[in-house]
Amino acid sequence: MDKPKVYVTWRIPEAALDLLESHCHVTVNPADRALNNDELLAAVRGCDAVLCMLTDDINDAVLAAAGPRCKIFANYAVGYNNIDIASATGRGIYITNTPDVLSAATADLAFALLLAVARRVVEGDGFTRAGKFMGWSPLFMLGREVSGKTMGIIGAGRIGQVMARRARGFDMELLYTATSPKPDFEAATGARYVDKDTLLQEADFVSLHVPLTPATWHLIGERELKLMKQTAILINTARGAVVDEKALVAALIAGEIWGAGLDVFEQEPELEPGLAELGNVAITPHLGSSTVETRTNMGLLAARNILAALRGEKPPNCLNLSARNQ
Ligand code: NAP
Repeated sequence: MDKPKVYVTWRIPEAALDLLESHCHVTVNPADRALNNDELLAAVRGCDAVLCMLTDDINDAVLAAAGPRCKIFANYAVGYNNIDIASATGRGIYITNTPDVLSAATADLAFALLLAVARRVVEGDGFTRAGKFMGWSPLFMLGREVSGKTMGIIGAGRIGQVMARRARGFDMELLYTATSPKPDFEAATGARYVDKDTLLQEADFVSLHVPLTPATWHLIGERELKLMKQTAILINTARGAVVDEKALVAALIAGEIWGAGLDVFEQEPELEPGLAELGNVAITPHLGSSTVETRTNMGLLAARNILAALRGEKPPNCLNLSARNQ
């Protein structure tokens, strides 16, 4: 019997490709870039499974192009705002993601951004490299203390809870929001469930860990930024459009908040005009999960989801279990 056909939309770590290749005929996008819509439509045609990226717009037309043989689109990410899940379910295609394996790496990056902004690491690095450092002085480039402050976690799910544990290690008080309270998380960390406005008013640092959905689009806008302390720092490692970036740039210029650490952007990879010129921001190019270990584990998880679906089983990280009960 012919091996099942799997299309991988961008080269991923070898261990994951090896696992897939031991059971399947695998084609990998040879270009080191995301496919455009027309290329994606052509590439997925007649596949049994597709391993896709958060940069791929998996819309109804792409799912239709894959055709009736296709059992699964395995997203190489935990977020799945790039996929039309309802369409996939209607077409009997499983959608999976890569939860948990990237939580530590993403929380670490969020904490790195927090430390970088609070302690002016990026600004200080640029200053020193530019040859401007003339020696120590008592009031020079003062930052904000991190230890012992109040951390506000918006979206206390997998990554948010890991971020909270990082904050506990810095002796911080914890406030959080989610769609519902988390008694176990509260018992383990002493975190307090509050409404969003209370969190914004009381937290020294606000870290975003919600998925991008219609309900979280521009969750942080002009009104929310005005509620924050002037000394506060906003960290976004979730998705760019959770923050109204125009309002954020205006708030940073006006000094309404102290600074921001951003790993994700509304119009990725474009930056909001004015953002890159600001000294009180640290920006990274969507690096949340980008460690050798995590990207390998994400690939292995996506590959295992594909192999399970091809065996006729429900994949372990399925987001639409009803897909093949139609
Ligand atoms: P998760 O476990 O599903 O956690 C999401 C949290 O957000 C949950 O606590 C959920 O509340 C809460 N939430 C959802 N809608 C909300 C709303 N409208 N208001 C307040 N809270 C809301 O997801 P995760 O694994 O932690 O990942 C979170 C997101 O991080 C992903 O969706 C992805 O977009 C992003 N991410 C980015 C990177 C990067 O490279 N920068 C890497 C990984 C992930 P309940 O628990 O009550 O449902």
